[in-house]
Amino acid sequence: MSATAEKETMGFQTEAKQLLKLMIHSLYSNKEIFLRELISNASDAADKLRFEALSNPELLEEDPNLSIQVDADKAAKTLTISDNGIGMSRDEVIQNLGTIARSGTAEYLKNLSGDQKKDSQLIGQFGVGFYSAFIVAERVEVITRRAGLPADEAVHWESTGEADFSIESAERAKRGTTVILHLRDDALEYADDWRTRSVIKKYSDHISLPVMMAKSLSEEERKEKADEAPEYEAINEATALWARNRSDVSDEEYLEFYKHISHDFNAPLSWSHNKVEGKLEYSSLLYIPEKAPFDLWNRDVTRGVKLYVQRTFIMDDAEQFLPMYLRFVKGVLDSNDLSLNVSREILQRDPNVDAMKTALTKRVLDMLSKMAKNEPEKYQTFWKTFGQVIKEGPAEDFTNREKIAKLLRFATTLDNKSEQSHSLEDYVGRMKESQKEIYYVVGESHAMASNSPHLEVFRKKGIEVLLLSDRVDDWLMNQLGEFDGKTFKDVGRGQLDLGELDGEEDKKQQEKLEQEHKGLVERVQGILEGKVEEVRVTSRLTDSPACLVVGEHDLGAQMRRILEQAGQEVPDSKPIFELNPGHPLVQKLDKEADEDRFGDLVEVLFDQAHLAEGAQLDDPTAYIRKLNKLLLELSQ
Ligand code: ADP
Repeated sequence: MSATAEKETMGFQTEAKQLLKLMIHSLYSNKEIFLRELISNASDAADKLRFEALSNPELLEEDPNLSIQVDADKAAKTLTISDNGIGMSRDEVIQNLGTIARSGTAEYLKNLSGDQKKDSQLIGQFGVGFYSAFIVAERVEVITRRAGLPADEAVHWESTGEADFSIESAERAKRGTTVILHLRDDALEYADDWRTRSVIKKYSDHISLPVMMAKSLSEEERKEKADEAPEYEAINEATALWARNRSDVSDEEYLEFYKHISHDFNAPLSWSHNKVEGKLEYSSLLYIPEKAPFDLWNRDVTRGVKLYVQRTFIMDDAEQFLPMYLRFVKGVLDSNDLSLNVSREILQRDPNVDAMKTALTKRVLDMLSKMAKNEPEKYQTFWKTFGQVIKEGPAEDFTNREKIAKLLRFATTLDNKSEQSHSLEDYVGRMKESQKEIYYVVGESHAMASNSPHLEVFRKKGIEVLLLSDRVDDWLMNQLGEFDGKTFKDVGRGQLDLGELDGEEDKKQQEKLEQEHKGLVERVQGILEGKVEEVRVTSRLTDSPACLVVGEHDLGAQMRRILEQAGQEVPDSKPIFELNPGHPLVQKLDKEADEDRFGDLVEVLFDQAHLAEGAQLDDPTAYIRKLNKLLLELSQ
């Protein structure tokens, strides 16, 4: 599309407006970060230019020294940030500065409650960005010219950050972008050279590009040089942070660098910086964020590290270097082995990439293990946010299954708390001497799991059981199979065999019960014909009269729901109905001579067992009718 000379006014998307409002509100007490965002953008623009110049060197030749220039002007009440990076065409300006919001933002914002919208941390889920300029500016102008386009195809964009922006053709002598902030009255401090200099230094020391400001002059010098053009000096170190030695980088610089690459408002939980030499040579700097982005579960969003080859930026979101279950990791990878003209397709085929992926995965897992060991509270924060993503790990990454399993955290009957804070290692450490398996129960919710009738005998015997209620848990247990040589056992599935945990007495007792209740079991079976796989008496219950058990090789309720939701055909399977012969209701049932009443009572118990599993009844009205009938008989 060719540029139009006329001035055009366009509206922002609705979600852009909402985000802007949220941003101004959230960052009011943290105004200065707009500088970090604008300098980040300028530095990215230089990176992109260097990258394009690899295949088109002319782009760089015109103005080869890449830098960022910042000018504060007290009299004009402006702060101007210019770069000679890639610049933007008219279409790009409209695309980039008119539609800031990632897809899904509008929907996400719509679903938040009023209180949630007031949470100033919320902005962290979106990433800040160019729009933060409006925290300090009442009006922003952008004059930009895309590298490779002629001088008269520059674009002038302007907005007060409210409903719309204007755009018109302009002239710009060289490629690059100039952002002019017309400062609000409460932000005039940024028109002050000194104030701005210290903030910019903080936000740019880790950037590999020089940030230039006019040399500050004494009163006298200023008078002397009034007619001369100002002299500029670099105010930052201008070396790539990841290329420096670990010992030369301060924590503050690491934190700032994280914010630079991630646009995250929050500090990361942890990071790991490494230089690898040998067969492969690369540097990596990987961060674990504290907060999840709002679209963590959108699998179509590409994520990954920022890839550099010998300091030259190659691409954002190189997803080939980390597995999906570590998709929350942010960072930089700078390789000496890849070619500068590497593409996503080439990355997929390059064996070096696999080797790096293996190494980076190990780094992240080690970083997490260390955090879990040394900073358990921090790890708990991590687990709450990203635990469900880590649970995808054992299926995706077979080699690291054991390592990932150690990172898992569960709720257990030890304290019955819903917080997932117990590791498998801890569980195994607490296992009874004769216990061979790791027991777990699956429920729709934590309350459902911890109140499951299947736990009764375990509570009685003081055996700990994992309480699982995340959607993926049943599936996860199938993937894991075992931990530390001990298999996982769903206590709601198959025959209950506590092995050596049951004494000789218990076993004899069970056999005796089975003998004694043969008749009852047959009668119940007659009533539930076609609805159950089997009826049997059980010792797994102490308080409940009956429960349902899933057949050893049948799908559990949770897996069944997942598969059904995914539109898959799920084979029909019938539950096993177990009766607690010690329960007064079952004893009453055993003595019930009236066939009708016997039938009603069995069906009520059967339906109740479904309810205890969190299942829906096929015919709730019939259940209520039968129950009420029994209640009436009771009161007669
Ligand atoms: P983000 O940087 O997170 O993508 P921003 O809102 O900060 O989001 O910027 C939106 C887009 O505008 C950038 O991705 C980039 O394409 C473009 N952009 C912003 N500033 C510049 C600049 N100085 N030079 C070139 N492009 C820029």
